[in-house]
Amino acid sequence: MSFLRADLAQLKAYVSHPGGTTAQQVDILDTNESPYDLPLALKEKLANYYTEAIATNRYPNGSHHRLKSLIATYASTSAHLTTNFSEANISVGNGSDELIRSILIATCLGGEGSILVADPTFSMYRILATTLGIPSITVERNPKDFSIDLTKAQAAIAQTKLPPVKVIFVVHPNSPTGQCLTDAEITWLRSLPENILVVIDEAYYEFSQQTLAAEIVTRPNWLILRTFSKAFRLAALRVGYAIAQPTVIQALEKVRLPYNLPSFSQQAATLALENTDYLLGVIPEIQAEREHLFTELQHINKLHTWPSDANFLHTRLKPIDQPQEQQLAHLVETLKTEGTLIRHTGGGLRISVGTPQENQRTLVRLKNFVKLLP
Ligand SMILES: *Cc1c(COP(=O)(O)O)cnc(C)c1O
Repeated sequence: MSFLRADLAQLKAYVSHPGGTTAQQVDILDTNESPYDLPLALKEKLANYYTEAIATNRYPNGSHHRLKSLIATYASTSAHLTTNFSEANISVGNGSDELIRSILIATCLGGEGSILVADPTFSMYRILATTLGIPSITVERNPKDFSIDLTKAQAAIAQTKLPPVKVIFVVHPNSPTGQCLTDAEITWLRSLPENILVVIDEAYYEFSQQTLAAEIVTRPNWLILRTFSKAFRLAALRVGYAIAQPTVIQALEKVRLPYNLPSFSQQAATLALENTDYLLGVIPEIQAEREHLFTELQHINKLHTWPSDANFLHTRLKPIDQPQEQQLAHLVETLKTEGTLIRHTGGGLRISVGTPQENQRTLVRLKNFVKLLP
């Protein structure tokens, strides 16, 4: 169809849980959500709010004042700030995916810039850039510890074939591999010129308890992304946020859709922040389960598993430098028919930490599969 952009022909629509499964009971461990639903008491509060306080004929609040102010306080506490962030430091999006798109629109659109990522990493940066016709430059990571090849990254910034690099996206800790940024990487990011926006995606902050949010105070070219989709158990309701200096926030606010966040979602995120202790009370269990799963995976001889600061683990078949995509695809399909969904990505497997029962089933099914390998 000639009215469509020619370059869209190469793109595929994003599918989560591709292919489905016929298993009766399914352990969803391929999307890094919390294994726990919102507690019933909070769902009932939300339901009451919906009945009593939301007029569905009215547009939602498009300024997000109350939510932004709660986020500013939460983010300031996490960064141990003496002077708190204010609403002017926060923008909220329909998931952090929307914010990623806003960042790209505000920086690179119209041939003005390229983005830089280090593979393997979260695929959405490149996917969204491509849909906007924005070029991406990809550098490698060290295959042993997934640290970024900083020499290549520095060279990529100096390139002159593509529009200049305007944004660098890093995940802290990285998905799908699980590690926080190293000291060398942080030092390098700090050394970048102010005409490059440094986006630190802290989607897994609550699991790692490591944040660079305090850097925002002194760095006009840094932005922290966070989400309610993981530790706060609100993936279904799509709320993410950005922390940055007011000039960057104002740019994001200019390019976003006016009513980007439904009233119900705003209220759910508000309620989550009013109940952080309750909701985040399971984080120590998830961290302990991650360590347990890590130890058990290490005992599987045919697998190499990396330590993780997030709520998922990255593992590969040994030897890790041999092609294994076909075997991994077969493994993922086999586990799927048994009722465990895990993700084949970034040259390995990404396994979300679930409930203790789910993790136990994952281990049994993985062991059974690798036992049959030659
Ligand atoms: C899950 C995840 C997000 C969250 O995206 P939402 O759109 O907020 O659900 C963001 N960044 C990374 C790296 C993630 O893994």
